[in-house]
Amino acid sequence: MTQERAVPAEAPETSLDFIRTRINQDLADGRYTCVHTRFPPEPNGYLHIGHAKSICLNFGLARDYHGLCNLRFDDTNPVKEDTEYVDSIREDVRWLGGEWDDREFYASDYFEKLYEFAEQLIRDGKAYVDSQSADEIRENRGTLTRPGTESPYRNRSVEENLDLFRRMRAGEFTDGTHVLRAKIDMAAPNIVMRDPTLYRIRHAAHHRTGDTWKIYPMYDFTHCLSDSIEGITHSICTLEFVNNRELYDWVLDALQVYHPQQIEFARLGITYTVLSKRKLIHLVKEGHVRGWDDPRMPTICGLRRRGFTPEAIQDFCARIGVARAENLVEYGLLEFCVREQLNALAPRYMAVLDPIKLIIDNYPEDQTEWFDMPVSQDGTIPGERKVPFARELYIERDDFRLDPPKKFHRLYQGAEVRLRYAYYITCTSVECDENGLPQVIHCTYDPQSRGGSSPDGRKVKGTIHWVSSRHAVPAEVRLYDHLFTLANLNDVPEGKTFLDFLNPDSLKIITAMIEPALAAMPAGKTVQFERLGYFCPDPDGTPEKPVFNRTVTLKDSWAKQEQRR
Ligand code: ATP
Ligand code: MG
Repeated sequence: MTQERAVPAEAPETSLDFIRTRINQDLADGRYTCVHTRFPPEPNGYLHIGHAKSICLNFGLARDYHGLCNLRFDDTNPVKEDTEYVDSIREDVRWLGGEWDDREFYASDYFEKLYEFAEQLIRDGKAYVDSQSADEIRENRGTLTRPGTESPYRNRSVEENLDLFRRMRAGEFTDGTHVLRAKIDMAAPNIVMRDPTLYRIRHAAHHRTGDTWKIYPMYDFTHCLSDSIEGITHSICTLEFVNNRELYDWVLDALQVYHPQQIEFARLGITYTVLSKRKLIHLVKEGHVRGWDDPRMPTICGLRRRGFTPEAIQDFCARIGVARAENLVEYGLLEFCVREQLNALAPRYMAVLDPIKLIIDNYPEDQTEWFDMPVSQDGTIPGERKVPFARELYIERDDFRLDPPKKFHRLYQGAEVRLRYAYYITCTSVECDENGLPQVIHCTYDPQSRGGSSPDGRKVKGTIHWVSSRHAVPAEVRLYDHLFTLANLNDVPEGKTFLDFLNPDSLKIITAMIEPALAAMPAGKTVQFERLGYFCPDPDGTPEKPVFNRTVTLKDSWAKQEQRR
């Protein structure tokens, strides 16, 4: 039935998680001869880092086993779905390295087939139209300790069921008046199996099928049959579907169609954020963030805008692996992966986040020198740019102290430091305001130290970054912190909601002074601001008014913490 077959697979030589172990077993047993997975998002929101785990897993299996992975939109709920979401999902999956060629499918493409399957179940006496209200159905479902009660409509004849189901399709009934249910067992220990609903009436326009349908199939009916139609071998989903597997198998067995294997793994949870589309939609709609791609959001587009790379996210997903036990991963691990990646790849420039003026009194007033500076110290990242040097500079306020603590190797009165790639300077005096706070630092430079090298073998301990005040471009820099103040948002105390833990300081905007070469940096190109961290130009900016997002700081508290453990 499938359009294209994945080639016969052999077990690849990667480390074995429980899913790969299972697949290897299936291949060894000859149960399947290839691996064909799918990533099945519902287009009712933007993808988040939790979805990235599923994308890396499904597309990763296809890659490792020389199989295929389909992109399937699970679009059975007309009310919440939208083409805006479809477009964003496509973009995000592709960005993360997912390749589905022409295998882009929609559950809604199967509506006609699914309808035929439903009629077949009715004809086989395995489904019936129930006319109880939603409340009655819920009430009669029973509980974990109490069996359900059979519906008074359960034993309608095949003819009556077919007639009602066709009229449901024709739009003769209003929402909620009838549903189609599987006829399984109202006393089943697994509540999912107590005559689950397969179809409901919804007079709503669908983003792809328009007004064609007045009835829509439920997830449990749609998903297994979509997998079957596409020839999926391993249908990998998250743990909350464990109890639904019995129904997944029941539907396929009842219809005697090709049978994929459902395998469940643990959802990803990350500290200080929420990974639920419902909650993320709320943050966007209520204006708690600037949009789906706000760099504080755990969405793929938010992380991208913040400067995270696909490779870093893939690395993160590889490190967390897949398991069956739920766990909460530290946000710091994600940042660690980003830092690792960018450390090797991001070119380095100079910017001053908290500027204080520095005047080199013995440097000619109208002179400018243009230094050719490499974008990495050890030359591992190719490239150079020209950096202007002049008499008046900005340096980082924190690099100067009136009362330096012990072992302070940066600037204070009488101290000599190196200005990165430029000159040795010695601080001679400082102008303070009426509160005694430094305003202007005065220095002299040693012309013999051009390029930042020692003229006579004398050593300086500190090297600081700088920008020429005349040439520097003011840039808006957005500094981000966790979106929430609570680490585990699954654990919100009673009487509170996740919104009570929004971090009021998650965004801080400052004006930095950046070297001219940075102003023209295209959006999305993450760079290192020397000694400060990784920063990514934001699409809000222009060369005249640049805007940068701080991707991550340089400081790696996560790795240090891990070492201590
Ligand atoms: P949400 O709870 O955020 O709305 P969902 O599961 O309803 O997520 P889907 O669009 O149905 O969202 O998800 C598509 C695929 O991504 C599913 O296979 C789902 O299991 C997987 N997925 C969703 N969230 C996570 C997560 N946090 N960790 C791992 N996989 C996830
Ligand atoms: Mg879902």
